[in-house]
Amino acid sequence: MPVILDGDATAAAWRARIKARADESAFVRAGHRPCLVTVLVGDDEASRAYVSRKHQDCEALGFASRQIDLPASISQADLLALIDILNRDAACHGLIVQLPLPAHIDAGAVIEVISPDKDVDGLHPLNLGRMLAGQPALRPCTPSAILALLREYDVPLAGRRVAIIGRGLLVGRPLAMMLADRDVDAVVTVLHRGVADLTPMLRDSDVIIAAAGQPDLVRAEVVRPGACVVGVGISYVDGQMVSDIAEDVAQVAGWVTPRHGSVGPMTRAMLMRNLLNAALSQT
Ligand code: NAD
Repeated sequence: MPVILDGDATAAAWRARIKARADESAFVRAGHRPCLVTVLVGDDEASRAYVSRKHQDCEALGFASRQIDLPASISQADLLALIDILNRDAACHGLIVQLPLPAHIDAGAVIEVISPDKDVDGLHPLNLGRMLAGQPALRPCTPSAILALLREYDVPLAGRRVAIIGRGLLVGRPLAMMLADRDVDAVVTVLHRGVADLTPMLRDSDVIIAAAGQPDLVRAEVVRPGACVVGVGISYVDGQMVSDIAEDVAQVAGWVTPRHGSVGPMTRAMLMRNLLNAALSQT
């Protein structure tokens, strides 16, 4: 039986540590609370559920939060103007504009106007650039979550072959950078749609991280026995949420995430970590 990379339990431990750190800080002792502001454009059901969980996490940690709901018809100019106001609002320490945005809004332009100091998603080009330069930065939540989960379970990474499927901005691209960093030392291969056959590289990998959003993309037959497999990607088939990793992967893997609800809770824990760091750095 593989070791299950339990994101729920690991996230609970992280939340406890984050709360302890907050409670010990001069900021909280002086009666302040880190405050997250989320902006939800439109009424996508999944986005609403994601945002709601972020507010629940804030409440559980004693952090403040505020949700701003905007109609899907809002213009890009009006959205940017609102972000400008929130950037200057000293009561807002962390700011998230929930993605995806309606097609008429350029998500890149939106991310770029968020103050890098309040960019708790860690997706602003300045924060990504700082990370690349080895400088302190608010780091993207999902790649941080994956690394924290692998570390929690002592999955060997130094000198090991790690295949990341997907080169998206949210997961694959920043994760590759983090795993190849000097303090992790993994040997990273990034796979993507331009690779005709993933199988030889997956079979050769000690760790597979699937962040493509393709149902059952990684099956047992492409996993080396004893390898570690992390499912990140999510897609929907007939209204049902499906993982990038097939059920039979658990029969061969040495470590595996549950097909749902492992990287997600950890991602939210990393968001709370970023929020606390952002609040403490703004005081
Ligand atoms: P993205 O759409 O930007 O990138 C997807 C990447 O997967 C692309 O680089 C593409 O080349 C690659 N890809 C797609 N199909 C492929 C295939 N058949 N073979 C090889 N490569 C393929 O996605 P993203 O924003 O980086 O997110 C990746 C996935 O992770 C999505 O499914 C997203 O929903 C999920 N996600 C999960 C969490 C979580 O907390 N669990 C958080 C963020 C993103």
